[in-house]
Amino acid sequence: MRQPLVMANWKMNGNSAANRELLKALQAEFARRGAEVSTKTSVICPPYPYLTQVAEMLQGSSMQLGAQDCSHSAPGAYTGEVAAPMLADLGCRWVVIGHSERRQYHQESDALVAAKLVAAQRADLMPVVCVGETLEQREAGEAEDVVASQLRGALADLPDLREVVVAYEPVWAIGTGQTATPELAQEMHSQIRDVLRELDENNAEGIRLLYGGSVKADNAASLFAMTDIDGALVGGASLDAEAFATIVAAA
Ligand code: PEP
Repeated sequence: MRQPLVMANWKMNGNSAANRELLKALQAEFARRGAEVSTKTSVICPPYPYLTQVAEMLQGSSMQLGAQDCSHSAPGAYTGEVAAPMLADLGCRWVVIGHSERRQYHQESDALVAAKLVAAQRADLMPVVCVGETLEQREAGEAEDVVASQLRGALADLPDLREVVVAYEPVWAIGTGQTATPELAQEMHSQIRDVLRELDENNAEGIRLLYGGSVKADNAASLFAMTDIDGALVGGASLDAEAFATIVAAA
């Protein structure tokens, strides 16, 4: 039985005052809804500078803390980078790795993503590795091959596949309002699980697969009804307390 997981990716949004308001509203929503949200694993991933603020405000809540990225290097002379053990030190239990915006704007390769996954596991963080095709790749009929190859590349060096989550995020659905249909997402998730079976037959069934790409309060339940969709990575809608709580409740 895979425990539902919903992650909020705040991306590069927020400031101290806005975060406080959003977290207060989230806590009120969570208190109002009780077990329908508190029994699900939900994770807030704010920008680095606000990790401590969010960690303090989440104390005593069922929501956990995560980061949006980490360095592949151990602490040392890497100006501007943030090492995985630093995130663990601040209270993070989760870290998103290889988001398409990192791949697109920071030229992150599968090899770098693989190294970041190893660094995250070494720091006892649960890595959530993102894979997904562009619209061009989908239209060329390459979606399945692209995703399978990203997955094999990312997981190549990982000693333990039990401690990883995979997020399928078609690039054409991120921040566009264009969600994959539940059937299309399920088809890809099922293929992802086949690749995971090839890599680690014993543990593939237990690995959580999240869908990401314009998940909203009104489409979450139909996505979560699919066999291999175990939760969501949520961008835009995670900045709205009621929408995010509704998505968590649907998981
Ligand atoms: C994301 O950033 O991972 C994402 C899925 O964004 P959105 O929900 O806004 O499409």
